[in-house]
Amino acid sequence: MAEPGHSAERKNRAPADASRYEQVNMRKDVLKINDRPLGEMLDNFFICEHCMIVDKDSGRTEHGHKCSNCNNTDDRGLSYFSTQVTSLINLMQEFYHTQQVITDENGKGHVSFWAGHVKLPVIIFFATLRELLLNNLIDEIFKARSIDGDICDRLLKDSPTHKQRLDNLFRTLTGEKWKAALTQIDKDEGTDFVSLDTFIVKVVRARNDFLHNGNTWEIKDNMAEDCMINIYPMLELHAHLHNHFVFIIYDFEKEE
Ligand SMILES: [Zn+2]
Repeated sequence: MAEPGHSAERKNRAPADASRYEQVNMRKDVLKINDRPLGEMLDNFFICEHCMIVDKDSGRTEHGHKCSNCNNTDDRGLSYFSTQVTSLINLMQEFYHTQQVITDENGKGHVSFWAGHVKLPVIIFFATLRELLLNNLIDEIFKARSIDGDICDRLLKDSPTHKQRLDNLFRTLTGEKWKAALTQIDKDEGTDFVSLDTFIVKVVRARNDFLHNGNTWEIKDNMAEDCMINIYPMLELHAHLHNHFVFIIYDFEKEE
């Protein structure tokens, strides 16, 4: 798990990497893709190294490209999400498709998915992904505000769990409650991240009931499918959170 303050370097994207996402209808196809790494396909978010805006402009990988926000030449094609994020998505993809054939006493093969039909690892990794993304956001805010390392450490120690970081630390750093922030983004962008958040809470409850009590009954048959389908909306949410709470800090400093 990447702790804030220890995030991975962003990677430069080759031109061939860009715009692959647009070639497929993710809602429909995300469950079928098994021959290409899903993490790289879903990650079509770029960050401008000059103004720090995050967008989906794949032109950023092309020579001489100008950022549509700050007009500076930005052709490094800097990926917004770290390799840890794409690797975790690839892991989810792998476990989603991994199956085992168990032969019964009559020699008939039965397909079984890892940890049963509920595809437990997908659900566990989905919950991990949301922790990774929140830690990344916190880290970005620390950096944008140039908060002293000792203070960052203390803030993180004061809120060691994901829930505390969501309920307390996020509010301390942004001045907004998590739910209110999502409601505001939905209003501004015409998205529905409040519903996504409700789904995530359900997944986390199911995961915890399994990890702490060994129960799988909270895990519904299609939960793993829904987790796969909601990876991309979760990335979109974090791109918006970046622009709402991190990009504006750099933008404000520039205007001063
Ligand atoms: Zn820019």
